Amino acid sequence: MKKVVIMGAGPAGLSAGYELTKEGIATLLVEKEKQVGGISKTIRCEMSTRTDTVSEKVTNYFDLGGHRFFTKFAEVNDLWQEVLGDRFRKTPRLSRIYYNDRFFNYPLTAMNALMGVGLADTVKILLSYFAAKIHPSKTENTFEEWVSNRFGKKLFLIFFKTYTEKVWGIPCSEIQAEWAAQRIKGLSLYSAVMNALLKPKKSKITTLIDRFDYPEFGPGMMYNEMSSRILDQQGSVRLKERVVKVHHAGNRVTAVETEDADGETTLHEGTDFLSSIPITELVQILSPEAPEKVIHAAKSLKYRSLVTVDIMVDQEELFPDNWIYIHSPEVKLGRIQNFKNWSPSMVGSSARSTLGLEYFCNENNGFWTMPDDKIFAQASEEVSKIKICERDRIEDFLVVRVPKAYPVYDMDYPQHIRLIREYLDLFENLQPIGRYGLFKYNNMDHSILTGLYAAKNIQAGKKIHDIWNINTDEEYHEEKQEK
Ligand SMILES: Cc1cc2nc3c(=O)[nH]c(=O)nc-3n(C[C@H](O)[C@H](O)[C@H](O)COP(=O)(O)OP(=O)(O)OC[C@H]3O[C@@H](n4cnc5c(N)ncnc54)[C@H](O)[C@@H]3O)c2cc1C
Repeated sequence: MKKVVIMGAGPAGLSAGYELTKEGIATLLVEKEKQVGGISKTIRCEMSTRTDTVSEKVTNYFDLGGHRFFTKFAEVNDLWQEVLGDRFRKTPRLSRIYYNDRFFNYPLTAMNALMGVGLADTVKILLSYFAAKIHPSKTENTFEEWVSNRFGKKLFLIFFKTYTEKVWGIPCSEIQAEWAAQRIKGLSLYSAVMNALLKPKKSKITTLIDRFDYPEFGPGMMYNEMSSRILDQQGSVRLKERVVKVHHAGNRVTAVETEDADGETTLHEGTDFLSSIPITELVQILSPEAPEKVIHAAKSLKYRSLVTVDIMVDQEELFPDNWIYIHSPEVKLGRIQNFKNWSPSMVGSSARSTLGLEYFCNENNGFWTMPDDKIFAQASEEVSKIKICERDRIEDFLVVRVPKAYPVYDMDYPQHIRLIREYLDLFENLQPIGRYGLFKYNNMDHSILTGLYAAKNIQAGKKIHDIWNINTDEEYHEEKQEK
C-alpha cells in the first residue's frame, strides 16, 4: 500500500495531491502556513475607509504579485478547467514600463520604444544596435551579453538593466543568460525599422496572452478548491506544520518530521515523498546529515525575496494597466499591480482602487526587516513621487513579506544545483518538485507539471518522467511559433 507525504501545499504540491487522491492513493500534505497556495495564494483583508462618518470596512483580495493563468501544456490547462471551469474570467492584458516620466509598451515594441525616448537616444540606440550586430560579444553567458548582443548596449541600458538589477539585486553581468531567453520577447529593431519604411511582413509568431484567465477572487481560489477536493477524495492537508527533519535510511526516505507553532512534533511515515519546500532547506534538514560538500552547495544557492505593500486608494480609476514595471532608478519600487484591472471583484468598493506595490529585496536584512509603518511611509512617498497616486488618497495598507520568491540564477548556481541533484537522485522514493523545490524560475504551469509528473511516477512505480527537465526550453514562454 502506498502512502505519499507531500511537503508544501503550493500549486505543485496540491496538484500532485489532487492527482494522487483521485487515483485513490493515500496522500498527506504538510504546509507550514495557515493557508494553502504558496506564492500563488490570495490574501483576504478587511481595510478601513477614511470617511468622516462611521468608519467602514471594505473586504479586498490581494494576489502576491499578479498571477496570470496561461500555459502551453494541455494537461495543466485541463486541470485548471476541471477545478475552476466557468469561475475563470477572461482578463484583457495591458502592461507597460514606466521610465523617465513616460510609459512604454511591455513587451517592448521597437517603434514605440524609439518614438518614446526622443531623437538623440533613438540615434544612439540604432547605432549601438548595428554595432552589436557587427561586433557582438563573443561569449553569451551573462544576461548583459545576451541582451546587448540582440538589442545593442544602449537599449539594454535604458530598458533592461535597471529593472533587472532591482529584481535580482546583483549586476546584470553576474546573471545567467538562461533567464533572459525564457523571459524576453524577440524584439527586432531591424524589422521594426524596415516595417516602418516598407510594407509590414506578417509575423509568424503569435502571442498567447493578449487575454488571460484569472479567477474572480484571485489565484487562491484555484488552490483552495484543489485543497477541498483533496479532502473530499480522502486525502489530508495539515496546515501550520513546518517540516523540520526528513529521515532516511539506506537509499530511502522513511519519514518527515513536522513541528507546529507550540513546538509539538509529529512523525509522518510514508512510502513515497515529494518536496516542494526550498531545496536549500531540504538538504539541510536531512537526517542523517547530507555530506558536507552538498550542504555547502545548498548554502551557496540564493533566493531573492519580495515585499508587497498593498494599499487601498479612494479613487475609482488610477490607470488602465494590470501592472506597470517601474524602471525609474530614482525609486526602489519595482512593479505595481492594479487589482481592479485583474478582476473587479478583488476590490470590495467600486469607488476605490487597490494596488500592490512590489519591492524586491533580500530576506532578513535591509528593507525586509524595516517595520511595516516605515515600509509604508517609503512606498507611499515613492508612488506619489512618480505620480501614480497621491499619498493623501491612500486609506489603508497591508505589508506582506514573501520569502524566497525568486531563485537567483547567478553564475555559480549550475554547479551547486548539479551537486545537490546528484545526491538527491540517490533516494529512490524522494522527488523534489515545484519552483523553489527544484530551484527553477517556474511559472505556475511548470510548477504544476512537475507535481503531476511526480504523481505519475509514483503511480507507475518508476521514473517515467524526468522532473528536472521541465522548463529547460529556451523559447520565450508567452509566444508560440505558427506551424
Ligand atoms: C511576484 C510573482 C508573480 C508571479 N506571477 C506568475 C504569473 O503571472 N503566472 C504564473 O503562472 N506564475 C507566476 N508566478 C510563479 C508562481 O507563483 C509559482 O510558480 C508557484 O507558486 C510555485 O508553486 P510551488 O508549489 O512550486 O511553490 P510555492 O508556491 O512556493 O509553494 C511552496 C509551499 O511550501 C511551503 N513550505 C515551505 N517551506 C516549508 C516547510 N519547511 N514545511 C512545510 N511547508 C513549507 C510554503 O509555505 C508554500 O506554501 C509568480 C511568482 C511571483 C513571485
